[in-house]
Amino acid sequence: MIDETLVFKFLAKYSFTSNSLWLPYERFRQCLDQALKGNDAFRCDVADYSEEGREILKLSWGRGQKILFIWSQMHGDESTGTWGILDLIAFLKTAAGRKLEDQVQLVILPMVNPDGAEAFTRRTASGIDMNRDARALQSAGMNLLQRELLAANPTLALNLHDQRSIFGAGGGGHPAVISFLNPSGDRAKSLTDSRVFAMRVIALQATWLQQYIPQKIGRYSDAFYPTAIGEWAQEQNIPCILIESGWEQNDPEKLIPRKCHLPIFIAAINGMLSEKKLPNEQVYYDIPENADVFFDLIAETTVFNGELTNVNSGFMKRYSVNSGSFHSWWEWVDFGDLSFKHAHQRIDVVEVISEAKSFNTLENKKVSIKY
Ligand SMILES: [Zn+2]
Repeated sequence: MIDETLVFKFLAKYSFTSNSLWLPYERFRQCLDQALKGNDAFRCDVADYSEEGREILKLSWGRGQKILFIWSQMHGDESTGTWGILDLIAFLKTAAGRKLEDQVQLVILPMVNPDGAEAFTRRTASGIDMNRDARALQSAGMNLLQRELLAANPTLALNLHDQRSIFGAGGGGHPAVISFLNPSGDRAKSLTDSRVFAMRVIALQATWLQQYIPQKIGRYSDAFYPTAIGEWAQEQNIPCILIESGWEQNDPEKLIPRKCHLPIFIAAINGMLSEKKLPNEQVYYDIPENADVFFDLIAETTVFNGELTNVNSGFMKRYSVNSGSFHSWWEWVDFGDLSFKHAHQRIDVVEVISEAKSFNTLENKKVSIKY
């Protein structure tokens, strides 16, 4: 068990020297080597290989009875959880962290889709969405995850993702910086013991995070996806929590959701070690649901084809990797009354530069803007 104030103190002093949305494989390996330096208690094995031949690693630590299983980056363009894992490794080098060694075991599969990470794409090299592959088992990563989950039979599993920036924590204008979900093991959403346990751990995690990102914690949609790993794990009665890193204002590289991971991990460990002290699952249900209410940028007025209109415009920032470098651009996604929508950034006037005569005739909505 570790006191939460100690975790937040560590974060306040910790130097986040490296961070980015795109985490290419070699850079990940360098950052991991750096984090593992001076931490001989970690065992690092090659668990499998991706389609393009990259090593998928398995990290093991500790010798306690309770087992926390963590994986990240099934979706290659979702690196925040992987950064969070590197911070956990750094924390476990401290005297406080080392005290957990006799109490828990960690099994961590960071970056299970390294080909997707390299190309900054959601899918695997052959185009499979790994988190929709839990039944067909056509990706190396999903085969590996299921094999390792069944072998470890963990007390708790954490599945780390990034969510789209469209989500607010409820509809009130706060972004969902972190969203949680306890998936269901069946379509009827049966409330099994393993689900209730996971909900109560989420309740503790959310309580810890309230002091850091108040009102910016959401509950992810519990739509049933039978081909997702979370649903599969819950079906095996492995308590599973989906963590979705979202967006915060003035935080383009997602350092704030990254920093939420260490409290999320340590609260999970505390929850496993002291189940009786966990909050009631009602706290989980009280977390506001994610609402699709955000744009990355809203302009109050729009200059288009040289004319100033009183019409709002909404834009989303898009990202890609081409020829080894990272690019971003704006997509013009809406034109009209956006007064009931929210934005991570709000401006008075935007000038849209495009060959098109109207919003309707834009063939793709990729535009240049000035503001
Ligand atoms: Zn994802």
